[in-house]
Amino acid sequence: MTDRKKPRIRAEFRKSYDGRKRKRDFTRDLDDHRQKVDDLASGERLSGKGRLTRKRTVAGTLDDSTGSGFQVDLAVDESKALRGRVVKVFGLSSIVRTEAGEWSCSVRGLLKSLATDLQHTVVAGDHVTILPTAGATLEGTIARIEPRRNAICRTSRGKQQILVANIDQVLIVASAAEPDLKPNLVDRFLLSAEKSHMQPVIVINKIDLVAPESQIQLVGAWSQLGYPVLQVSAATGQGMERLHDLLRGRDSVVSGQSGVGKSSLLNAIQPGLARRIGNVSAENQKGRHTTTTAELIPLECGGHLVDTPGIRSMQLWDVSAAEVEGFFRDLRPFANRCRFPDCTHTHEEQCAVKSAVADGLIDLRRYDSYCQIRSDLD
Ligand code: GDP
Ligand code: ZN
Repeated sequence: MTDRKKPRIRAEFRKSYDGRKRKRDFTRDLDDHRQKVDDLASGERLSGKGRLTRKRTVAGTLDDSTGSGFQVDLAVDESKALRGRVVKVFGLSSIVRTEAGEWSCSVRGLLKSLATDLQHTVVAGDHVTILPTAGATLEGTIARIEPRRNAICRTSRGKQQILVANIDQVLIVASAAEPDLKPNLVDRFLLSAEKSHMQPVIVINKIDLVAPESQIQLVGAWSQLGYPVLQVSAATGQGMERLHDLLRGRDSVVSGQSGVGKSSLLNAIQPGLARRIGNVSAENQKGRHTTTTAELIPLECGGHLVDTPGIRSMQLWDVSAAEVEGFFRDLRPFANRCRFPDCTHTHEEQCAVKSAVADGLIDLRRYDSYCQIRSDLD
C-alpha cells in the first residue's frame, strides 16, 4: 500500500481488535516489536489491507503503521487547502491551529464513514489538511489526516481509543525525596513509553533534598540504556536550563505520580503553565467534556506540552505479561537465547537472562523490576 500507484481503498472497513492475543511465542512477539520499531525508523508503513472487509472503493491510501488506528489519506483540492495541527477535540468538533489562526473544524463526511469503528477519527496532535468553509470565518472541514508517527492509546470496552498523536517525548517526573524515588515506578513509565514508541526523558526533581552523587548508580543504569536522565530542582533552579532545552521546539507529555513536583516544574518553565494544564485535567475528571482526550498547550519557547489525567498516570494499558521483556531494552538481547522459547526468565533453568544478571550484564535492580511488573500482569 505504500505504492502510490495503488490509491484504492475500501470504505466501510472494520478493524479487528484482536491484535493483543497473548501469543505464547515470545520471540515472535519480540520480532514483531522490533519490526515495528524498524518500520517506524525507516518511515515504511505497514498495511492493514488484509484485515479489511471490502465494500467500496475511494481514492486515497490507507495505513496502520503505528498500530494506532487506520490513517486515511484522501484526495483533496490542494489549491484551497490549509495545513494545520489539531490542538483539541471535543465531540465532533476540533480546534485546528494553522499559520492563519485557530480554526473550528468538523470532519469531512467520508472520513467519518471510513472510521465508524474508531472512537476518535481525529485526535489532538494530528497533522491535518483543512478546507475553509465558504462565507465563514475561521471555520472549516478536516479533509485529510496525515499518518500518525505515534500515538498514546488505550482500549476501553474492546475499542481502541487514541488519546493523543505525534508526540516527541514523554517526561517521566520523579522526585529524589518526599516522596522517595521509586525506581520500579520509573521503569513502569519507561515501559509505557516504549509501548507508545515515544522517547522517554527521566526527570528527577527535588535534587536539592539529597546529594546528587547518591544516585550515580541508578542514573548510570538508565543512561546506559539510552534514556536521558536529568537531576533538577524546581525550588533552586538547578538543572532547569537543560530541561528547558529539552522541551524547546518539541511536543512533550508529562507523567509522574502526584507530589513529585510536576506543577512546580511547569511553572518554573513558564509562569501559569501548571494552571492551564490542571484545567484540562479537571474538566476531564468532571466529565464536562467527556470526549476531550487531550490538549496541546503551546510553550513560549516553541513546542507543546500535553496533559490528560490518563496520560499522567500512564497505566500499563494493553501490555501483556509476555510483551514486557520486549520493552526492557536490557533484557531484549538475551531473551531469545533461553532454553525454553516461552521462558519467562523467572523460575526456568538455562535462562540466558538470569545468566546475564548473574554475570553482571543486566542490572539486578532492573531485573527485579521486570519480575515485579511481569507478576503484576500475569
Ligand atoms: P505535583 O503533584 O507533581 O504537581 O507536585 P507539586 O508541584 O504540587 O509539588 C509538590 C510539593 O513538592 C510542593 O509542596 C512543592 O513545593 C514541592 N516541591 C516541588 N519541587 C520541589 C523541589 O525542587 N524541591 C523541593 N524541596 N520541593 C519541591
Ligand atoms: Zn529466560
